[in-house]
Amino acid sequence: MALFSVKMRSSALGSHISGAERIVEEREVPDVCAAMGTRALAHGKGKPDSITVTVTAIDGEVAHIPALPIREAHCADPAEARETVIDALAPLTPHAAEAWELLTGVRDMRGAILFHATTGARLEPDHARGVRVTSMDAATATGERPETHSGKTRVTDALVLASKVAHHPAMLAEVCFSDDPDYTTGYVASREMGYLRVPNMKPVGSEMGGRLFVVDTDDPADLIDYLEHTPVLVGEAK
Ligand code: AMP
Repeated sequence: MALFSVKMRSSALGSHISGAERIVEEREVPDVCAAMGTRALAHGKGKPDSITVTVTAIDGEVAHIPALPIREAHCADPAEARETVIDALAPLTPHAAEAWELLTGVRDMRGAILFHATTGARLEPDHARGVRVTSMDAATATGERPETHSGKTRVTDALVLASKVAHHPAMLAEVCFSDDPDYTTGYVASREMGYLRVPNMKPVGSEMGGRLFVVDTDDPADLIDYLEHTPVLVGEAK
């Protein structure tokens, strides 16, 4: 069955306001375009003066992968969150503490840091921007689509992204926390540990936020191509 990628981006006076992406069946395309337009117009960051919706047929098969199972850590404050994340990364890299310092020191990146597990070096070509993961969605059959779970959109979008990311063999782990000052729960994820929600990664009101991928490759070109371009549908956890 042919699938379509539907992407939306909106801006005002040339600066980005919001973006969204779905991978859907042909019959869903009109409704999804309408829903994206509505969402763009209602965005909290302000009224866009430009909304672009792009619909592209996807060539060939789309990979279906399972969602990572969700677990929950108990962290009372950012110090405990730091310990939880470093403990999770320690078996994968001798530079776990440096990864934490790097992640909590960056500002306003649009994408993720690629952190070389063996050396602790940064591998992403553009350090200011990072690598952006796109071309993914929740599988229709799972009932996990963000629009069916009002109020849970953030976890679902993040889980879809984390599941796609963890699936690549060169990916060892991901750590993320939002730059939204009201949202302090982050996560650390990998194929082995699943998606571990980490509360209190930062103090309420802080505008810190970022994403970091711990990777095991000297040449990240294939990995970056997978993250940016390979379409993936994420189904229920196994
Ligand atoms: P958010 O959870 O959307 O607040 O994003 C937290 C951080 O993750 C942002 O500051 C970005 O650095 C990064 N990020 C957001 N979206 C993506 C994406 N699609 N791919 C890679 N990194 C992202």
